[in-house]
Amino acid sequence: MNWDEFSIWGKKITEWAADYHKSVAERSVRAQTSPGAIAAQLPSSPPVGGEAMEAIMGDFERIVMPGITHWQHPRFFAYFPANAAPPSMLAEMLVTTIAAQCMLWQTSPAATEVEGVMVDWLRQALDLPEGYTGVIQDSASSATLSAVLTMRERATGFTGNREGLATKGNMRIYCSDQVHSSIDRACWVAGIGQDNLVKLPTQGPRHTIDVEALRRSIRSDRAAGHIPAGIIAITGGTGIGACDDLAPVLAVAQDEDLYTHLDAAWAGSAMICPEFHADFWDGVDGFDSIVFNPHKWLGAQFDCSVQFLRDAGPQLNTLKIEPEYLKTTGTEVTNYSEWTIPLGRRFRALKIWFLIRAYGLDGLRSRIRNHVTWAAEICEEIRAMDGFEIVTEPILSLFSFRCPGDDATQQRLVDALNDDGRIYLTQGAFNGQKVIRFQVGQFDTTRNDVMMAADVIQDVWRNLK
Ligand SMILES: *Cc1c(COP(=O)(O)O)cnc(C)c1O
Repeated sequence: MNWDEFSIWGKKITEWAADYHKSVAERSVRAQTSPGAIAAQLPSSPPVGGEAMEAIMGDFERIVMPGITHWQHPRFFAYFPANAAPPSMLAEMLVTTIAAQCMLWQTSPAATEVEGVMVDWLRQALDLPEGYTGVIQDSASSATLSAVLTMRERATGFTGNREGLATKGNMRIYCSDQVHSSIDRACWVAGIGQDNLVKLPTQGPRHTIDVEALRRSIRSDRAAGHIPAGIIAITGGTGIGACDDLAPVLAVAQDEDLYTHLDAAWAGSAMICPEFHADFWDGVDGFDSIVFNPHKWLGAQFDCSVQFLRDAGPQLNTLKIEPEYLKTTGTEVTNYSEWTIPLGRRFRALKIWFLIRAYGLDGLRSRIRNHVTWAAEICEEIRAMDGFEIVTEPILSLFSFRCPGDDATQQRLVDALNDDGRIYLTQGAFNGQKVIRFQVGQFDTTRNDVMMAADVIQDVWRNLK
């Protein structure tokens, strides 16, 4: 392809993109294909000669699009959102065009410097104290793994990387039973082991970790010869939105000299709204590491996860490695690849810059506020439905409910709703029971989209009974 053809197709694809987004609400939210149906339409071996772009694009529409679940659909109420506000998509196009690999300052100084400033803009937006720095990662999973590795290294006096873990004893990490599976996996990968991830019960309307149990558990582990290494708290757990009381957790960590990580992957975006701080953010100052995903609720195109660090030193001591071929002259620069596990890195900060400038914090805040308000409204509609019950009350814009019947019936309703295609919901678990999750957070969703879900649920339920 030459650049003139690129220009023609670039324009066509931008048109296609705008049309797609303008009409996405007419599509079924979840793909309606059966397993294998897409793969069966692809040739089993690669073409030897080149093909025309018309043919490739035609097959994209014919074969690929029917197998897409539409995350940018305004009635996407499943999982958590992965928003893609248009300015952030445009920034991604520029990043794709420049295609710089931004591992070191000198491999694109602008990428590093914009990243530093964007992390600081977001620090201010989330009202974290001055002094926090941070880095943009691909995912919360990677940020959490970085934090868990740091806990491990700190607990071994920074000898684990060099000596291995064979003689280090059982390092223990503490969290509530509401954490995301990425915390389990981080402990697997870091060599901590599932059995050394201590999950404590939760209590109260926000399902906060039982802090007394946390304290007791750490003390009894020490008495048993284990090595407490860190505490992971959550603001907005994935299942039902559990939020730990941050100040008491931090107090335990300080008393016990433990490293702390806060997983706010979803709910962190809502913390740009000061009115949520009293309930959800109080005590955040002092956490050693905090992750939140602008690629979820905030509107930055996937992927984009910000990890804030109170002091970058311990994580750098854990992850920094500098072979000759990566050395650069000049000592005052930041090389962000030293802060993370992957070496190569994309210029993710540009989409934050475009996003925040295009909407302003107030534009982003008003969306999140609407989502929280509308979630409360639809929750009341579902509560009023015959035989339906709200299992977990709204935390920000997430709640869960059950229809009449057993667990299998809950799953039948979820599947029937998603086969219907007008809305998309997913299931979760609470207190050993299956629940149906409902979250509001798609960037372009309207009150009508959200309230329509009540009619769809009624309708599909009536036909299921
Ligand atoms: C989505 C989510 C994660 C995982 O995020 P990735 O960026 O996909 O790794 C972790 N924790 C919570 C609370 C989440 O909601």
